[in-house]
Amino acid sequence: MEIYSAEFVISNTDVSKCPKPSLPEVAFIGRSNVGKSSLINMLANKKDLAKTSSTPGKTQLINHFILNKNMYWVDLPGYGFAKVSQNQRRQWTKMIWNYIEQRENLMTLFVLIDSRHNPQAIDLEFINSLGEKGIPFTILFTKTDKSTQKEVSANIDEYKHQLLERWETLPPMFGTSAIKRNGRKEILKFMDELHGSWKNTKTEI
Ligand code: GDP
Repeated sequence: MEIYSAEFVISNTDVSKCPKPSLPEVAFIGRSNVGKSSLINMLANKKDLAKTSSTPGKTQLINHFILNKNMYWVDLPGYGFAKVSQNQRRQWTKMIWNYIEQRENLMTLFVLIDSRHNPQAIDLEFINSLGEKGIPFTILFTKTDKSTQKEVSANIDEYKHQLLERWETLPPMFGTSAIKRNGRKEILKFMDELHGSWKNTKTEI
């Protein structure tokens, strides 16, 4: 799959106001500063599609983009801002889980994890909740250019180890670098496969 068009569609705070679920969709989520905007822009091959480094505490929005006029990509607000109020945290949780659980065209949720760190509790908790609720997700390890290959592999292995202590199977995983454009081909191919399986589901009905 190559990207020939990438456009912003709409931002909102409520899953019920998202575009009609008539196209397959993938969404991106992760801790603030994990490299989500950079990765979305790199994958889309468009510099300013997703805004980089959103300010903590600012209105948190579900942002829809349309790619190649046949698939939605969704930039979800990140978790783990240190300086947000209890109330903002509650709002985030409600909005995100409503979206994740109710969005019927969501093919996979890309959970972004910084490849420089050992497994972090906040990421593991989020991933475990996805597993418990049976939400299809994929892990994208970001910023792999910032460490040696050995360090990145050690962190990814540790994630696998910790997940296998609790789950029988592992989700799909990809290493990425927005700077070196690593992972782009593989992830676009993966999305293409998801798109194909969406079409199959539709024709079966
Ligand atoms: P977001 O808050 O998750 O959207 O993160 P951003 O995309 O704004 O990235 C946060 C910071 O990490 C910025 O300074 C980026 O330039 C940097 N960054 C993001 N991705 C990469 C990457 O793949 N490699 C390197 N070296 N830096 C990155």
